[in-house]
Amino acid sequence: MPDNDTTEPLSLDEMRERYRAEQQKRIRPDGLNQWRDLFDDMDRDPFVEPGFTREPLIEETTVVIVGGGFAGMLTAIDLTKHGITDFKIVEKAGDFGGTWYWNRYPGCMCDVESYVYLPLLEETGFMPTERYASASEIFGYSKELARTFDLYSHALFQTDVVDATWDEERLVWKVATSRGDQLSTRFLVLAGGILHKAKLPGIQGIESFEGKAFHTSRWDYDYTGGSPTEPMENLKGKRVGIIGTGATAVQVVPQVARVAEELYVFQRTPGAVGVRNQQATDAAWFQSQKPGWQKERIVNFTHAVTGAQPEKDLVNDGWTELMWIDTQKMPESDEEADALDRADFEAMETIRQRVTDVIDDPETAEKLKPYWGKHCKRICFHDDYLPAFNQPNVHLVDTNGMGVDEITKNGPVVDGIEYPVDLLIYASGFEVTTDLHQRLGFNPKGRDGIALSERWAEGAHTMHGVLASGFPNMLLISLVQGGFGTNFSHLLSESAKHVARIIEKCNEDGILSIEPEEAAEEEWLSVLHGVGMGGARYFSHCTPSFYNSEQQRIDKRAARNLTYTGSVLDYVGYLERWRDVPDFSGVKTVTTPPGD
Ligand code: NDP
Repeated sequence: MPDNDTTEPLSLDEMRERYRAEQQKRIRPDGLNQWRDLFDDMDRDPFVEPGFTREPLIEETTVVIVGGGFAGMLTAIDLTKHGITDFKIVEKAGDFGGTWYWNRYPGCMCDVESYVYLPLLEETGFMPTERYASASEIFGYSKELARTFDLYSHALFQTDVVDATWDEERLVWKVATSRGDQLSTRFLVLAGGILHKAKLPGIQGIESFEGKAFHTSRWDYDYTGGSPTEPMENLKGKRVGIIGTGATAVQVVPQVARVAEELYVFQRTPGAVGVRNQQATDAAWFQSQKPGWQKERIVNFTHAVTGAQPEKDLVNDGWTELMWIDTQKMPESDEEADALDRADFEAMETIRQRVTDVIDDPETAEKLKPYWGKHCKRICFHDDYLPAFNQPNVHLVDTNGMGVDEITKNGPVVDGIEYPVDLLIYASGFEVTTDLHQRLGFNPKGRDGIALSERWAEGAHTMHGVLASGFPNMLLISLVQGGFGTNFSHLLSESAKHVARIIEKCNEDGILSIEPEEAAEEEWLSVLHGVGMGGARYFSHCTPSFYNSEQQRIDKRAARNLTYTGSVLDYVGYLERWRDVPDFSGVKTVTTPPGD
């Protein structure tokens, strides 16, 4: 674990004050409303041929899974393993892969180690080529998983669910899609993904820009030339602007910097960028792993990043080195609070020191330093991002926490200076904590025709974030009252297992419908509150981000729309203990059809 004695002793009070000032600068009254949807022409899928049509499907099935990313795929794979093969997967994109389908921007990769991130490596025998896999490789692997587990025959691609209504008479969900399909299904699994809905900053004048513009998740290689693996020749001689400095921008900037004539990076909050240290996979090491190695490594990694400090840190990279201190716990004394803050400051000081070491120009270096707690935003790891700012064609346009003031027909304006660009790239992220039905793109109607938006108008009601009262046989895999973790695929694998087991158990026991009792939901809410107390204290000092819903005021709704902020392993413990009891507790079930 890191030895944090490399820096000068820090004045806690000065540092706290600096963090507070940076936070205050960025808190905006419009909070989550500061963004807008992608323009229609920007939201189109650039990776499919236009004009696809097919006959509508009218079918009865056992399960409809909404979403063909890892959550949906893993649920389908687990169902198949339980012998349930009567399911459909409805997916907006033209293939499987979810976020790895959409995000094909140059340099895109997963900064969580591939040996713990890519699911089912032992079953497929797939060896990632590098320690941190490229997006193209992960997308390829998604397709490989789909072929291996025969998922393609279940897929309805380029299709959006437009309506899902519970039929109380027949105890089924009636699902309608944008392609005219009418599916009648016993179970509805909502696996829409957390980074599904891309967003644009609501900057004044954004629609007046006359150059080329796109969001990073809809990269237009027809314009830039090249591909995820080839240089973007068409950007030669072009002036390019990027808005955003989050995990996506950190990967894009060095690639664009290589070819563009001028690159302007518009920064609102500096990202924290640690050492990546990419390596090719050592085939001999990989092949020498004993059965069960991947599960052991995944669990070990999650332990390491959540403060459990395993005896041996198997992954031993930037994540486990930087994130291990459990600063989100509730301190029991002022001394403990000081010690936790100091550990956090010192960890972030190593990130700031790296900026000093890498960046030639001290003024630019100062602007690139993040002054926020290490759990406030997502830490990034990259070896080429910071050095790109030493190139003469790369210009940091720091907005002092305010964001771009305006966009004219020529380009962004900051502090009264207009930056004319040919191409404007929005690395502005995704909706994460907005209402679930808004992100899903449809509003399920449960018992008595009550819509999810109505039922959850004052906040979510779920058991484990999976089952929801009023919505029988609907199973959720989402952040709303569900888990969250650095290795997100660990969480998704476990959630998928849970969902598939519930469906299997219903089949075994002749359960026609299942939904939680409200008392069980309240019990789960009190678990979320208990675990979240330390996090709430921590996040109240944070700079705004999607981790804290942009520091919007905590109202009644927000107090229910929580995520389980403890370790994924603890969250999984709740799921396992519940499903291991032979008769599921805290749920209402129906075993005889209505009218019998
Ligand atoms: P983020 O939401 O993290 O970043 C959006 C960026 O846009 C921020 O820098 C934000 O600034 C900036 N921004 C927003 N509005 C304005 C404005 N008006 N003016 C200037 N800047 C503005 O999105 P990303 O796509 O970068 O990342 C989203 C998530 O995707 C990550 O958190 C991660 O979970 C995932 N991801 C994972 C990767 C991996 O390797 N596994 C790689 C890439 C992404 P501010 O910070 O001030 O809000």
